[in-house]
Amino acid sequence: MVSESAIQNFRSSLRGQSFRSGEQGYDAARTVPNAMIDRRPAIIARCAGPADVISCVRFAREHDVLVSVRGGGHSVAGKSVCEGGLMIDLSAMKGIRVDPVRRTARAEAGLTLGEFDRETQAFGLATTLGTVSKTGISGLTLGAGWGHLHGKYGLALDNVISLDVVTADGRLLTANASENEELYWGLRGSGGNLGLVTSLEYRLHKVGPVLGGAVLYPIPFAREALRFFRDWAAQIPDELVIQCGSLTMPDAGAVFAIVGWYHGDLAEGEKVLKPLRSFGKTIGDMFGVLSYVQMQSLFDPFFPPGRLTYVKSNFVQSLSDEAIETTAAHMGKGPSPYSFAPGIEHWHGAATRVGVSDTAFPHRQNAFNFMIWSNWEGADNSAKNIQWTRDYWSAMKPFLKTGSYGNYVSDEGEAVAREAYGANFDRLVTLKNKYDPTNLFCMNHNIKPTLKPAASRTKPIDLGASNAAVF
Ligand SMILES: Cc1cc2nc3c(=O)[nH]c(=O)nc-3n(C[C@H](O)[C@H](O)[C@H](O)COP(=O)(O)OP(=O)(O)OC[C@H]3O[C@@H](n4cnc5c(N)ncnc54)[C@H](O)[C@@H]3O)c2cc1C
Repeated sequence: MVSESAIQNFRSSLRGQSFRSGEQGYDAARTVPNAMIDRRPAIIARCAGPADVISCVRFAREHDVLVSVRGGGHSVAGKSVCEGGLMIDLSAMKGIRVDPVRRTARAEAGLTLGEFDRETQAFGLATTLGTVSKTGISGLTLGAGWGHLHGKYGLALDNVISLDVVTADGRLLTANASENEELYWGLRGSGGNLGLVTSLEYRLHKVGPVLGGAVLYPIPFAREALRFFRDWAAQIPDELVIQCGSLTMPDAGAVFAIVGWYHGDLAEGEKVLKPLRSFGKTIGDMFGVLSYVQMQSLFDPFFPPGRLTYVKSNFVQSLSDEAIETTAAHMGKGPSPYSFAPGIEHWHGAATRVGVSDTAFPHRQNAFNFMIWSNWEGADNSAKNIQWTRDYWSAMKPFLKTGSYGNYVSDEGEAVAREAYGANFDRLVTLKNKYDPTNLFCMNHNIKPTLKPAASRTKPIDLGASNAAVF
């Protein structure tokens, strides 16, 4: 049991705000975009800087309290919000300093992609991050970070030069190529298992306007469009990043879209995109020149907060004609118009020229990442949407690899973690034993330490009789 005075002392030691149930701001602070997640932390500590983070880690250790860490809150599995424990909320830590000469940015862990891009684009610079601007940089980067620049510059984590991290013993360490090198290796891909990252230093690149958009096809044409997508993907240059999927457009209904972003010489981009833009009977060509910041927020309207989300994702062995036939048979038949079912990302270029064990993120093959990203409104519709997603998934199973990208999966458990960390799993267990032997950082696709029995921090903070009703 944690005494009331210990809790009060802890809260008053913080420079940032903190919230408990019933207090103003508590419900907003525990709410994340995926409305499937409705958990009630006992305390939410909105840290103002690394000193607050250190206090949180020490408090949690001392009182053996369940911890979750919130960067941008976009984990579809809801890993940033715990039930009854201490939620360490980094969303107020938004400092960033761009060095346009060295082409680097030191960014605090609470920044969103949109905030980061705005600051770096003031200097005509950018680095690979994701494709929806409200996503947090830290969860995305620690898990990998696939985005519009990955073909040319690698994944987000490939661009991380250095990280400041508070480890489970409450120390703040710097990890980079010459300091704590093994930790540096492991932080890039292990999704928050090894410590709480307070800031990241990124390598930046010159990025100007981009040529991008989508070509839309009617659903009955999806088979042909998918075969084109597969064959064309084998030929495209690093400057072009493509994905495709079935979605519902507000004015066009259910469509199959092939989306592409070219950054580099725009006249060259026109040539590179020509095969796509002249393929098949389209119902819309939405390509144009956009600023990088515009491009990075173009998908935002498809992901309003408050919808319920359940995602399945694995890499595919190959987009065979049979796989295409199976997926096309499900398109446009889901119970919700808000789903991307499927969404298929093409991973290529610089991101796939990194060795499997050069960072902790192992999925470096030239590949298609297959997702069923189900979104719907109303909790009453959850059962049918989840069931439909699982049925579709079962049908696709024969065509999928065991490898999955942890940042995209809703499901939990050791098998999921093993798939996500692949060939690097055992090396990560060694690091977990060293840096987090009692599994303080367990709300992630968890790598369990094996040296000491892991503490079971599933109990809420016991606040005594006066607050018992809250839990
Ligand atoms: C709408 C949407 C679009 C997306 N688009 C893309 C995309 O284009 N490309 C892509 O690669 N991914 C994408 N993702 C997946 C995204 O990368 C993950 O959801 C990622 O976990 C989000 O990071 P976050 O900080 O917002 O999440 P959070 O939920 O805050 O955190 C996710 C996990 O990381 C841990 N964590 C967060 N910050 C830290 C930290 N500073 N130190 C230690 N651990 C930390 C958390 O504890 C949690 O386990 C998308 C997700 C959504 C919902």
